[in-house]
Amino acid sequence: MSQIKLETYAKNTWCPGCGNFAILNAIKMALGELNAEGVPLENIVLVSGIGCHAKIVDYLNVSSFYSLHGRVVPVAEGIKLANSGVKVVGFAGDGNAYGEGIEHLIFAAKRNIDITMIIHNNRVYGLTTGQYTPTSPLGFKGRSTPGGTSELPINPLELMLSSGASFLARGTSRHIELLKDIFKEAILHKGFSLVDVLQVCFTYYNMYEYYDKRVYELKEHNPEDRNQALNKIREWDYNSDSPIASGVLYKKELPTFEERFLTKKTKIADSDSKINEFLKASI
Ligand code: SF4
Ligand code: MG
Repeated sequence: MSQIKLETYAKNTWCPGCGNFAILNAIKMALGELNAEGVPLENIVLVSGIGCHAKIVDYLNVSSFYSLHGRVVPVAEGIKLANSGVKVVGFAGDGNAYGEGIEHLIFAAKRNIDITMIIHNNRVYGLTTGQYTPTSPLGFKGRSTPGGTSELPINPLELMLSSGASFLARGTSRHIELLKDIFKEAILHKGFSLVDVLQVCFTYYNMYEYYDKRVYELKEHNPEDRNQALNKIREWDYNSDSPIASGVLYKKELPTFEERFLTKKTKIADSDSKINEFLKASI
């Protein structure tokens, strides 16, 4: 096990009991193990957005970029395209990723760009004291909906699957070892990977007991079988009281955006040099 130090001097300001601590511990363990297995930490870049989740990059001694609300994905994509040798891990809240930034997420999945997105899905806007988000259940009572929401939540994993994501997983802030394994697999996956973490907001939406009763770890599941993946993804719609699967739901090896894009660039460069040769010969 590597002895690298991932801690920083920043004071942690999350509320006691917040599920973000579990995500921080799991990603620390994952990065430590990846480093020990030969992935240099200098080759990893983290990106975060705006919200309670975003502070995670302050607590990790790894290169990082604080982006804007809803804009984690384009920044992560830009970093990857500028230097395809780095592994880019984006952190975003559910409001960030599934609300304001949903269009970026859909197109990143469609392109199969090789980045990893970790979603701190507490199903509430925590930093702004408890408004409903795209994954809050029907009837959720928060600051902006004291009488309860009138909207059904989206199932972000089903949306990501239909958009073309090549790796989809779900974890919770209760099972750190499993979360660490999922993070490692997602980061090592070649292509667009997304981990939806059911991260409990202890202060504004304490779901520990609810998830303890329903979450189970996937066994005997073939993530390469799209139909199996879809069935497991549809088992819980973020609104019902059905069992909630945790683990790698879908995984497929597909060409990445960078591979296609760079090949195309080389072809254009080749044809440019042929045109130049022709022009020179014609003068
Ligand atoms: Fe965590 Fe919620 Fe507190 Fe934010 S408001 S730090 S998500 S418990
Ligand atoms: Mg949130």
